[in-house]
Amino acid sequence: MAAATADPTGVRSMQRLGHAVILLGPPGAGKGTQAQRIAEKYKLPHLSTGDMFRDNIRRETELGLKAKPMMERGELVPDDIVLRMVEDRISQPDCRNGFVFDGFPRTLAQANDLERICGKYNFGVTVVLHMVVDAALLMRRLTGRRICKSGGHIYNIYDRPPKQEGICDQDGSELIHRPDDTEGVISERLSAYEKQTRPLAEYYRTRKQLSPVDAMAKADDVTASIAKILDGAETPR
Ligand code: ADP
Repeated sequence: MAAATADPTGVRSMQRLGHAVILLGPPGAGKGTQAQRIAEKYKLPHLSTGDMFRDNIRRETELGLKAKPMMERGELVPDDIVLRMVEDRISQPDCRNGFVFDGFPRTLAQANDLERICGKYNFGVTVVLHMVVDAALLMRRLTGRRICKSGGHIYNIYDRPPKQEGICDQDGSELIHRPDDTEGVISERLSAYEKQTRPLAEYYRTRKQLSPVDAMAKADDVTASIAKILDGAETPR
């Protein structure tokens, strides 16, 4: 009965570790879906810089107004804006036991600054989950993606459709098509990933923090392989 006594929820292990968990991979790799699941399993906050920007845009804050045109074009938001927002979020008490980052860092400058922030707040080991996926699959995943308006639950009209078209299975709210999930903007986002974000894989590989994950597998299998990596992660100093 080893499984029954071994912390089936995984809560204890992650609270002890205080890890910074990062999902690295191109748009459409499934970072959002997996980040939601890991955050729930390990009771850690799910931090998505994309969601933070979209929330600021909805509330028409100064930050949202600055980020909006760049997001609409599929370009990255400048590092100084992102970093101020991220440090502010990480310093909140709910991040004390660690957090799951989805969509950050996306540039070398952001990765360097995250290292500084993790040192400042005394976080443990940074685990970078590298979501490896075939480029041909990404366009299909992104053009088919639909997101629940209230809870952010993610569907795909081709591969993971909701039971009722346009309605979230989990909370019954409306599903929306993100304005940057259109072909032209997706191409821009993929090219920003290639130029600015892909070098981070090498950055984390040389620091021995990179764990590859087969993101082409079924969502449940991807979650299982991520859990295996996190459960085996080293305890920090
Ligand atoms: P995806 O990973 O599917 O492209 P996100 O929701 O993570 O979607 O990001 C949407 C947009 O938000 C990006 O195209 C970019 O404009 C902006 N953005 C999000 N995170 C960052 C970041 N860390 N640095 C710069 N821009 C960001």
